[in-house]
Amino acid sequence: MNILDNKRFFILPIIIIGSLILSSILFFNQIDKLKKQIDYIYFGTFIPVHKLHSIVNEYDKYIVTKEINESQKKIIKKEWNYYFKSYKTDKERIVLDKINLKITKSFSAYDNKLLANIVKNINNVIAYEVKIASQQRKLFLVKYENMNNYLQYSLGLILLLSLFIVFYIIFLSLQKHTELEKLTNKYKKDSITDGLTSLYNRKHFDFIFSKMTIIAKENDWKCSFVMLDIDFFKPFNDTYGHDIGDMVIQNVANTLRRSFNKQYEYLFRIGGEEFGIVIFNTSKESLEKSLDNFQNNIKSLQIPHTASDTGYLTISIGAVIVNKDSINKEVKELYKAADDKLYHSKENGRNQYTI
Ligand code: GH3
Ligand code: MG
Ligand code: MG
Repeated sequence: MNILDNKRFFILPIIIIGSLILSSILFFNQIDKLKKQIDYIYFGTFIPVHKLHSIVNEYDKYIVTKEINESQKKIIKKEWNYYFKSYKTDKERIVLDKINLKITKSFSAYDNKLLANIVKNINNVIAYEVKIASQQRKLFLVKYENMNNYLQYSLGLILLLSLFIVFYIIFLSLQKHTELEKLTNKYKKDSITDGLTSLYNRKHFDFIFSKMTIIAKENDWKCSFVMLDIDFFKPFNDTYGHDIGDMVIQNVANTLRRSFNKQYEYLFRIGGEEFGIVIFNTSKESLEKSLDNFQNNIKSLQIPHTASDTGYLTISIGAVIVNKDSINKEVKELYKAADDKLYHSKENGRNQYTI
């Protein structure tokens, strides 16, 4: 399957990119709010207060000298316009409109009462702005604290999400690895196993058998190759049917497994009703004991076989033992030798072994 067909490969980048975009939107949103708050305190309050103070200053001079020159008017107009034209609420606007009228009026003629009133009004506005600033500062500190917490939580969340993604990727690749490993192992096992009996198949036999003398030599072991063939199996099939024949082959395989279960004993189905055994680190006595035991086990199964002289199913066996003298022989020759011994057992009346 194409890797791009797998939905999981799209979900991952979407989660990563999505969470990054989301967290940066939230992050910049908070930063922007904080910036507005700072702007409000500094440019909405402190700078106006400074400007209002210079207006009061000019009016104080005006009250003392009882006259106002053009440069004083210019300062008052400039500073007042700056303050007056900045953003105000509707309520503030009502108050400021009145002061605005008074300021305009104050330029036409000297009026002590009006000037004192303007100074008082502007001082009130200053007090008001300072009060607002202190409230805003408190609000700012709270918002700053919230933002700080918020950023910490977001960072934690991003970290958790990244960790989750990393573990998920590791999990996916491990899962894939084990799946592949299982498949490979199964394939490897299947490719060397006979389907009917679960013994090793002919292919694996050829491999092990080709290495037999080399392994024996390297380990300084005696080894043995045994060939087994069910007697009169063609007539058995003809009498009882092919399916029963298959069950008998499985039965013989199980009996082989029971009789040859030591560490270096390898069992094969090398063809139809023929089996092979490769045994490392053995002796003639030990082999004879195992073969006697096997023949007895087959006998005790008492599988009926009317076409056989004994009346039950029997097996003929030919075996060779590789010792120091024969270890340099070609495996082909060993195979032929075992086959000859098997032929001898058959000719000699079957149901026996020849070593
Ligand atoms: P002998 O005692 O000389 O060995 O006689 P035989 O009849 O066993 O000899 P032969 O080799 O002529 O016959 C082997 C028979 O085994 C032929 C075939 O019908 C049967 N056979 C081979 N493979 C299978 C199998 O997988 N299942 C079954 N049921 N029968 C099989
Ligand atoms: Mg045969
Ligand atoms: Mg046979």
